[in-house]
Amino acid sequence: MSALYQRSATQIAAAVNAREVSAVEVLGAHMARIERVEPSIGAFLSLTADLAREQARRVDEAVAAGKRLPLAGVPVAVKDNMCLQGTVTTAGSKILAGWVAPYTATAVARLLEAGCLPVGKANLDEFAMGSSCENSALGVTRNPWDTDRVPGGSSGGSVAAVAAGEAALATASDTGGSIREPAAFCGVVGMKPTYGRISRYGLIAFASSLDQIGPIARTVEDAAAMYGVMAGHDPMDATSLPRPVEPTLPALRTDLRGLRVGLVREFDTKDLGEEIDAAYRRAYAQLAALGAEIVDVALPHAEYGLATYYLIAPAEASSNLARFDGVRYGLRVDGANVQEMYGKTRAAGFGPEVKRRILIGTYALSSGYYDAYYVRAQKARTLTAGDFERAFAACDLIACPAASSPAFEFGAKSDDPVSMYLMDYYTIPMSLAGLPALSVPCGFVRDGSPGGRELPLGLQLVAPLYEEARLFAAAHAYEQATRYTLDRQPPVVESVR
Ligand code: GLN
Repeated sequence: MSALYQRSATQIAAAVNAREVSAVEVLGAHMARIERVEPSIGAFLSLTADLAREQARRVDEAVAAGKRLPLAGVPVAVKDNMCLQGTVTTAGSKILAGWVAPYTATAVARLLEAGCLPVGKANLDEFAMGSSCENSALGVTRNPWDTDRVPGGSSGGSVAAVAAGEAALATASDTGGSIREPAAFCGVVGMKPTYGRISRYGLIAFASSLDQIGPIARTVEDAAAMYGVMAGHDPMDATSLPRPVEPTLPALRTDLRGLRVGLVREFDTKDLGEEIDAAYRRAYAQLAALGAEIVDVALPHAEYGLATYYLIAPAEASSNLARFDGVRYGLRVDGANVQEMYGKTRAAGFGPEVKRRILIGTYALSSGYYDAYYVRAQKARTLTAGDFERAFAACDLIACPAASSPAFEFGAKSDDPVSMYLMDYYTIPMSLAGLPALSVPCGFVRDGSPGGRELPLGLQLVAPLYEEARLFAAAHAYEQATRYTLDRQPPVVESVR
């Protein structure tokens, strides 16, 4: 059997429930692992070892008393924009540095009830705004496949922790791609559910009509198990869906017979370069080889996705972030009067990308420009949702890239915000339409330099609203048939034993 830190969440939970290993031992293995690899990875902003130890003891006691827990003793990294009572929760921002969460997010609380051990708070782009994790004001996270490269963002710490064996699972949030793009960059599975499936109570808001929490794992089965625990109605979140959640684990499949998979005409991969294009063609061929019928679908408004998103998301952000005013949360910089205090606090507390979004959003919402920008963006959003509805009349799932490129080097896109925004070209339309989508590893490309590393790519699968079970089922079949990252560790895992 592989080392404890290499085992899947499903394997860990089975072993802990069978009392072959204790939750305390599992935690010990992961804490040792964290100590070894954190200096080269930097996935965490803070560790919560005491809390995890306490929780491990509780899990062992429950199991000894005959209880079975779905995620017994499974170490989880919590993205640091989610509240975990008593822990510092920063959203990667100086404005919240040192702020202690007074309660626990529903999604996280459900994981704890299911037996998870919270090992630490994972790094992210400030307020989840970014695609590389470089916008974090509080730390640098490196990609375990090549530590000269970014892990992706905004959930960079979550995916790096899971890829490097520091946690079997991680929570993440996705507003326009923040689960799927970093999952692709780090060769793990990342899933964004239907909007409203998982409670956002206790998630620090970025753009409330888009934000959604989802699982990060090394296998599709683990992601499905984690989703099953987190999903379901929560009266504390007004946008939470009052619908039953279909069980995903029994639905997992090993073939794709009877499924029509749509390839999006507008998402031709030719422009992504020969090697990447070839990798996606191979992925689509593999779907067909598994029995899927490949069909052609169109998303004619996809090209407006980025423009639409970069009005709606900043507009909502500018309003959500008004609460950070030096009065109620975190940082306060004193001034001669209250107006000056607000200004100084926000000037010192927010980083450049967050300020850019607040400015764009405030502009888009200002009277005189509201109809021209915000209202038009909402109309374009409706058109995007209509595109998907029509596409899903002809297919059961859509397949496309999860990101525009593999992981890039630090600083490569820092001077050009639009080139950074383009990373989410393939993920934003699904966010606008509120659809469930995931990224599953679909191969590797060479980084081009002599002796260069191989970098993972992600295949994005998209399902109609509420069809998470179908999504996981198909992703599992593809993953089991291809096994790109199941039997292969990132170099940092190989080198730091
Ligand atoms: N990269 C996108 C942005 O910067 C999406 C981020 C996210 O999904 N949280 O807004």
